Amino acid sequence: MKALVYKGPGEKAWEERPKPTILKPTDALVKVIKTTICGSDLHILKGDVPEVISGRVLGHEGVGIVEETGSAVSNFKKGDHVMISCITSCGKCAYCKKGMYSHCENGGWILGHLIDGTQAEYVRIPFADNSLYGIPEGMDEEALVMLSDILPTGFECGVLNGRVSPGDTVAIVGAGPVGLAALLTAQFYTPAEIIMIDKDDNRLAIAKKFGATRTINSAKLDAKDEIMNLTANKGVDCAIEAVGVPATFELCESIIAPGGHIANIGVHGRSVDLHMETLWSQNITITTRLVDTVTTPMLLKIVQAKKLDPMQLITHRFKLSEIIKAYDVFAHADKEKALKVIMTCD
Ligand code: ZN
Ligand code: ZN
Repeated sequence: MKALVYKGPGEKAWEERPKPTILKPTDALVKVIKTTICGSDLHILKGDVPEVISGRVLGHEGVGIVEETGSAVSNFKKGDHVMISCITSCGKCAYCKKGMYSHCENGGWILGHLIDGTQAEYVRIPFADNSLYGIPEGMDEEALVMLSDILPTGFECGVLNGRVSPGDTVAIVGAGPVGLAALLTAQFYTPAEIIMIDKDDNRLAIAKKFGATRTINSAKLDAKDEIMNLTANKGVDCAIEAVGVPATFELCESIIAPGGHIANIGVHGRSVDLHMETLWSQNITITTRLVDTVTTPMLLKIVQAKKLDPMQLITHRFKLSEIIKAYDVFAHADKEKALKVIMTCD
């Protein structure tokens, strides 16, 4: 089969690899129909995720068709259409029992990270019963690729941890796919204001279409001053960080209202200053989380009921064999006006 293989920092290749096989009774082998590229894949390619070894097949999102199942898999059979969760979970360990699948002692984020991933013609999925989701008849499979990672990530790490509530003023820092996923799912709770902050006017225009009540271009304006002006110097009830650099997290610290919640989503590669000299008395919470995908079944129902349209996040489409081109487009997202790129098997 063909696969997108990480070759060490800055290097990747679309090359021939042996088709994966069932290794454990709980495994399923899935033929990948559609997959996508995540910001984390770019982090890996930059060399920011050193545990990813050269030779690893990348990718942790996608939909496919079950090709073969191990003897212990009971929820799925050959021919079933499935959505692949970015988080692999055994369902049996202490963390899984708490619903903290991201820290599963036997799984977690392993696809395209510690084991071969979904940017390939076939992928082996461990603990298939708990890590795959059946696709109901007639559902759009492209939309479902957005449920592998970005929708539950924006919702769980941003909206739920940020305790977005009716009437709240919410700021989302970063209008990339995950920030936009937080914007879409924050609206389940009817906040009064959602202020989107980014440096890219195109993404801010999309945020407006997706329901942002205001946008701030932080390359042109001082985002802190703007937020304080908009909120009568109070700040926001919820600040969602969806970038992962010190400046954006510190912006969240500087705009949070008393009693507010800072919810981090961004993948941070460097330490960040925590301004306890101003925050100690402010009754705020700061949360961190790796997506657990515990809300995936709920999000699936909302998408199925057409109350949420994740197709809006898809801007580019390629054949799976054109994945190198797709990476080029995704890596230059601002120039290409790209959000999520979808690759479909040839
Ligand atoms: Zn991801
Ligand atoms: Zn587990």
